[in-house]
Amino acid sequence: MQANRDGSPTFAVEVRDLVKTYRGGVRALAGLNLSVRSGSVFALLGPNGAGKSTTIKILNTLSLPDSGQARIGGFDVLTQAQDVRRIIGCVAQMSGVDVESTGRENLTLQGQLHGLGGPELKRRVDTLLQRMSLAQAADRLARTYSGGMQRKLDIAMGLINQPKVLFLDEPTTGLDPEARADLWNEIALLSKEGLTVLLTTHYLEEADRLAEIVAIMDRGKKVAEGTPEALKAELQGDAIQVDLLALASHDQIRTTLSEVPGLGELQVTGNSLHVRAEHGASAVPAVLLALESQGLRVASVKVSRPSLDDVYLHHTGRTFAQAEGQS
Ligand code: ADP
Repeated sequence: MQANRDGSPTFAVEVRDLVKTYRGGVRALAGLNLSVRSGSVFALLGPNGAGKSTTIKILNTLSLPDSGQARIGGFDVLTQAQDVRRIIGCVAQMSGVDVESTGRENLTLQGQLHGLGGPELKRRVDTLLQRMSLAQAADRLARTYSGGMQRKLDIAMGLINQPKVLFLDEPTTGLDPEARADLWNEIALLSKEGLTVLLTTHYLEEADRLAEIVAIMDRGKKVAEGTPEALKAELQGDAIQVDLLALASHDQIRTTLSEVPGLGELQVTGNSLHVRAEHGASAVPAVLLALESQGLRVASVKVSRPSLDDVYLHHTGRTFAQAEGQS
């Protein structure tokens, strides 16, 4: 295991060949490998059913793998589960907030569950309430909090034991865009303070904006990993999206566009088709001409640099939206 100068492991989370099959035969993890650098924000990005929550549950010592290894802060999740629990904070998808208690009461109880008490716990609760901008609302019932405030309280509860690694399972699901952006800022700040954050998300934008490293998961495996920029840069050329005025058969579109040179990775979803081209802007006229010549009338066309959706499509042969629909 690699270590930093102060003796802490270079990788806060290391996962090797993790396999998990649920009763009934669903293979949730099919040999997962991950290395999460200490102090970074790392996103597991994948459609519903990709195996993200299963990974988090195993890393949080709440579920056992069939085989493989995982270490958090150098501790083995199977043989040193107590040590792992001491240094992690977990924020599950389902809120752990008791809405009939105040924010302060929720945090105090969480601290007591970790064996904290007295002035130390009181100080810690006050610090976290300040830190998450909840001090004003500390003595109100959590029932009166907005979705964003409840989520911040959830995160504060995950931080009560001053963890080295914080797990966030789908942290912004269900939040409005403003609350989501606010939470992204908070998470980025936590990482600046030295915390390692491993989050799962099925929001492409969330991974793109927040994570230093993104691992794209599909069907229990990692299909790509890197900085969002590097992942997108691996893809040559541009993405072209054409919206047709009416539905057309996939075969007709495929045949029509096969006559245009330099196109690849064609995907058709409803009225929309996505295709890649080395030089998007110069390929567009030929694409439009080919479609119109077959009576396929075009409503709009968009050329863009590759997105994480394009990365996902490139590695799996499906768009993210298609994969979500299938799960
Ligand atoms: P994600 O978090 O990426 O949506 P999950 O880890 O929740 O994915 O699920 C991965 C696969 O395992 C899915 O096919 C899901 O239906 C299945 N699964 C998850 N939990 C269970 C369970 N307790 N029992 C049986 N199958 C499960």
